[in-house]
Amino acid sequence: MLARRHLLKLLGSLPFVGLGSHQIIRATENPATADAISRDFFKELGVRTFINAAGTYTSMTGSLMPQEVVEAIQFGTTQYVDLDELQDKVGLRIAQLLDCEDATVTSGCFGAMSIAMAGLMTGMDPQKVSQLPNTKGMPDQVIIQKSHDIGYKQALTNVGAKVIFVETAEQLQKAISKKTALLWFLNAHTHLGEIKYQEWVDLGKQYHVPTLIDCAADVPPVENLFKFQKMGFDLVTFSGGKGLRGPQSAGLLYGKKKYIQAARLHTPPRGQTIGRGMKVNKEEILGMLVALELYLKTDHQSQWKFWEYQIELIKKNALSVSGVEAQVHVPPHANHVPSLKLFWDQSKVAITPNEFREKLRLGHPSIATVGNTEHVGITTWMMAPGQERIVARRIQELFRQFAI
Ligand SMILES: *Cc1c(COP(=O)(O)O)cnc(C)c1O
Repeated sequence: MLARRHLLKLLGSLPFVGLGSHQIIRATENPATADAISRDFFKELGVRTFINAAGTYTSMTGSLMPQEVVEAIQFGTTQYVDLDELQDKVGLRIAQLLDCEDATVTSGCFGAMSIAMAGLMTGMDPQKVSQLPNTKGMPDQVIIQKSHDIGYKQALTNVGAKVIFVETAEQLQKAISKKTALLWFLNAHTHLGEIKYQEWVDLGKQYHVPTLIDCAADVPPVENLFKFQKMGFDLVTFSGGKGLRGPQSAGLLYGKKKYIQAARLHTPPRGQTIGRGMKVNKEEILGMLVALELYLKTDHQSQWKFWEYQIELIKKNALSVSGVEAQVHVPPHANHVPSLKLFWDQSKVAITPNEFREKLRLGHPSIATVGNTEHVGITTWMMAPGQERIVARRIQELFRQFAI
């Protein structure tokens, strides 16, 4: 952690460009604070903490959970319950919230896809369940658009499925056979694939093959939690620890009951299963439920306005240095939040974007960003409210330092 004295000195020494008053975000949207805990584990271990101006990255430990989620997790530690009964009842509650037949809490979006795939291959046959990853005698092919291949298909091949790539609807129709277990769709690459949502769903229905959509990082918008089951996708998966800000080791699988039930045959407490290592216990199950409840209650409009305010503040401070340019954008699918790209004329500001990012990372406080050789990328949705000021000042300070 940054010493407060140092931070105040840093903040005090700079000509900071403010934006005036703004709406303070609701208390429930604040992450749980570490202040109440006297032992600083990260300091003790020599592990550096940082301000997350990058986004929801597994390597950066995802998101910060709101206090209510932490309380649900803590509550979970105090009593014993039957694991299946808890999954049944939380699953029903989540299904009610999301207006679908059934749901289950998984070990992340990746785990959700693995157990879903396993269930689609085995159905409810216990012999087949214990046989995976050997898929002999089962439909074991999953059809994917080539443009949707970003590596997460490993969640499907890990349990024994074989991937068939297609590009057009015609190719897809030709590829479907008795061996087809699933048509898999990646929401993040919707715009890159030739076959869009409704056609994908319709082809699945026409050939009686289930469809699944990977929506890992796809709230906001909140509508995405409802849209795809309504459209006809049989299964939907989300990460628990990205936009939903639940446990990073949890996720959601929801949709058609018969497929969810088959997926659950592969999970603990059942032992001779391919999903035995993808355990979620009562703590994650309760944490995931509460994170979803909170997310559905969030005032998404004012949250969006707040993110825009934060981005605007950082942009304004960056632009106060001559030669710096900024572009505000919102990715169309996945990580759909106000985002900032900073780039500059290196004859006026003598530092490369990668060097700039490294300076941010190594500075006090440490700030994590994304980017490449062309630009520095920033989002604010994973910051604690208020940290945008620190980031704005630090960026302005660095630009000034390297301005010619
Ligand atoms: C993050 C991500 C996953 C994996 O999700 P986890 O919750 O980390 O298991 C899967 N698919 C996509 C598109 C993702 O962005």
